[in-house]
Amino acid sequence: MRPLPDLLISQIAAGEVVERPASVLKELLENSLDAGATKIEVRLEEGGVRLIHVADDGCGIAADDLPLALSRHATSKITSLEDLECVASYGFRGEALASIAAVARVTVTSKQVGAAHAWRLQRSGDEGDSVQPAALSGGTMIEVADLYFNTPARRKFLKAEATEFAHCDEVFRRIALARPDVAFSLTHQGREKWRLASASAVRPFENFSRRAKEIIGEAFFPHARAIDVAAGPLRLSGLAAMPAYSRSGRDEQYFFVNGRFVRDKLLMHAARQAYEDILHGARHPAYVLFLELDPAGVDVNVHPAKTEVRFREARGIHQFVFHAIQRTLATPLSGVGADEHG
Ligand code: ADP
Ligand code: MG
Repeated sequence: MRPLPDLLISQIAAGEVVERPASVLKELLENSLDAGATKIEVRLEEGGVRLIHVADDGCGIAADDLPLALSRHATSKITSLEDLECVASYGFRGEALASIAAVARVTVTSKQVGAAHAWRLQRSGDEGDSVQPAALSGGTMIEVADLYFNTPARRKFLKAEATEFAHCDEVFRRIALARPDVAFSLTHQGREKWRLASASAVRPFENFSRRAKEIIGEAFFPHARAIDVAAGPLRLSGLAAMPAYSRSGRDEQYFFVNGRFVRDKLLMHAARQAYEDILHGARHPAYVLFLELDPAGVDVNVHPAKTEVRFREARGIHQFVFHAIQRTLATPLSGVGADEHG
């Protein structure tokens, strides 16, 4: 028996975090948002397999911290179990970049606010790190190239370029929906797919609606009803489509818990139930909903990919979400509703 080498440990861990290019993109976008970015640019090549490039204008990383950013279990976001119980950032495990760097060639270029210039760290498999001065006006630029170049068994599971790109696009759309306050762009193979301007924070609902219109498309809007219901520490807001606009699949169901996209059975069930009497069983409702609650009431630490969460007061949440949606759908259109956004 012998201890596993560090690189191999990270490659095993990468199996959980780095399922495909889209999982890398999600981690990089979340890191940029955690860094306070107001503008994020994404460039992809070959569905993200050849290159995932994310540049932000966030707080940057100090030169001394660059190697740490790529180390396992190194994070600037939590320091204690108490922090973990009320985590407000997207990240907290400190393992995403280390896992990514174990299965791809990673370059991090960053200029911390106040630093004289930027630094660049390059890592490729178990070759030693190289850290050099670099030119960058601010923020952080991360490039993840040749995903799975050193783990051919994983590479075999990658799908066609178009499929991998579609997954990246979906990750991008979810995050962009949740953050109308941030400007995003995305290009694939040099072609621009998204360019989303940031909105001032003055009129949040209008901003969200505009972003949602860009991401989901116009057809949803004439049928969308605005939801904003609060009860104690719970708040549900967003848009839900009247049954006249329904889907054959669940492709337009977006649920966010404290800003994090989730695929949660309990929430989807509560929504489904709210449509029970007004939507044919074979059709699926469309909605973009944001549930906010005390971070201590929800465990986001269930899985590294983190689209599952666990609620402390599951029953209460189910009832709240069900009633909030049901009431909104039953309110005559003269109230807050689609007309004004249509
Ligand atoms: P986590 O997000 O869980 O802390 P990561 O492996 O994703 O772990 O990132 C490790 C650390 O690297 C972060 O805690 C943060 O300090 C730093 N970091 C990563 N990306 C960025 C970025 N875009 N801007 C500033 N700091 C970053
Ligand atoms: Mg992270």
